[in-house]
Amino acid sequence: MSKLRLGCIADDFTGATDLANNLVRRGMRVVQTIGVPSSPLASDADAVVIALKSRTIPAEQAVEQSLKALQWLKEQDTQQTYFKYCSTFDSTPDGNIGPVIEALMQALDTEFTIACPAFPENGRTVFKGYLFVGDVLLHESGMSKHPLTPMTDSNLVRVLQAQMTGQVGLLDHTVVRQGLPFMRDSIQEMRQQGVKAAVVDAVDDADLLTIGLAVSDLKLITAGSGVAIGLPQNYGIQPDNQASALPTAIGRQAIVSGSCSVATNAQVTHFKQTGGASFAVDPLQLARGDDVVARAMAWASTCDPSSPLLFYATAEPEAVKAVQQQLGVAEAGHIVEKTLSEIARRLVEGGVGQLVVAGGETSGACVQALEITQMRIGPQIAPGVPWCHAHSPYALGKGVHVALKSGNFGSMDFFTHAFELLH
Ligand code: ADP
Repeated sequence: MSKLRLGCIADDFTGATDLANNLVRRGMRVVQTIGVPSSPLASDADAVVIALKSRTIPAEQAVEQSLKALQWLKEQDTQQTYFKYCSTFDSTPDGNIGPVIEALMQALDTEFTIACPAFPENGRTVFKGYLFVGDVLLHESGMSKHPLTPMTDSNLVRVLQAQMTGQVGLLDHTVVRQGLPFMRDSIQEMRQQGVKAAVVDAVDDADLLTIGLAVSDLKLITAGSGVAIGLPQNYGIQPDNQASALPTAIGRQAIVSGSCSVATNAQVTHFKQTGGASFAVDPLQLARGDDVVARAMAWASTCDPSSPLLFYATAEPEAVKAVQQQLGVAEAGHIVEKTLSEIARRLVEGGVGQLVVAGGETSGACVQALEITQMRIGPQIAPGVPWCHAHSPYALGKGVHVALKSGNFGSMDFFTHAFELLH
């Protein structure tokens, strides 16, 4: 086994995949784990990303989970630790990003780190410490109305300072633009002044590459997924298609969709309109106790085995609202997730080897039903969505290719494009 260089802790599942995807594109071989693993990695990798579900939980619990992940990384002797949060710095009013950063710093016995959620490719830039989403400031972007993590202040120095006891500083764009030696000197000065965490400006990939070089000797980096593009170079790793190589895909192809986001609705419609075979899962039938899974399997057995099959609960907002009014939001979500994940498991048991899942929560439910604990990250299908290969006790030969798409990702032809890419 070669040495694991970078150990990452991500505060949610699709964020972990996003980070892993960026590392792979820059040449690292990456394994993502679901939660803290109970044993060493099953396969060779340059980096590991541990996916937690800590974004919205109380700070104490987030700290505890993150320290547990760090302990496992230390046991694997990783060289550098990366704490990944959302590129919109999503945190609750009580804020657990700051407490997690300080706990990781203490456990790693380090006095200084950076904080940089910038991901210019996806429109997230930081300038003078202010976070922009596209052309507007974070608090004007709709994030102020987020149901779980409303962000009402775009000044990251202020936001992070409110969450930390140690001093927060700013490495602004004039510093980053002057290049590596100047940036290193500025970091040194900040450390001497007692700054514990510096928010770093970045408006494009060139900035991220400079930042990557400047933080090569930090024990801890905290960032969105963008800063990751500047790190593989520190280990002498260059972009290389081999990094995303996965075993040959085998078996039937299927899509399970529980996302009702705008992009997914368009993808489902496009798939059906272009002749794709599909099976609709109706939440009200589920609530009545109909055996929809058995019907779905019976339908699948009559279909052409060489074409992908789509199973979907995806619906337009009015239809979803009507279902939620009858069943309640949580119950509707729960029965749909339970059914779709059961369908996914039965499909894989029945010989599906290439599975696309649409929806963040739906993906979580399917991964759990398939008892997947580790995934090797492969080629990118769309920004933020790679193909992965995972072991599952339900898969023929125990291996399955999965693509987990969070709701609003991917173009209209995402489903067919995904399968084309594998072959
Ligand atoms: P996204 O990534 O688009 O947010 P998720 O899978 O995270 O997708 O969330 C979608 C939620 O909506 C899931 O809990 C899913 O079970 C639920 N759901 C899917 N279809 C329907 C439907 N027709 N009616 C009500 N709820 C639904």
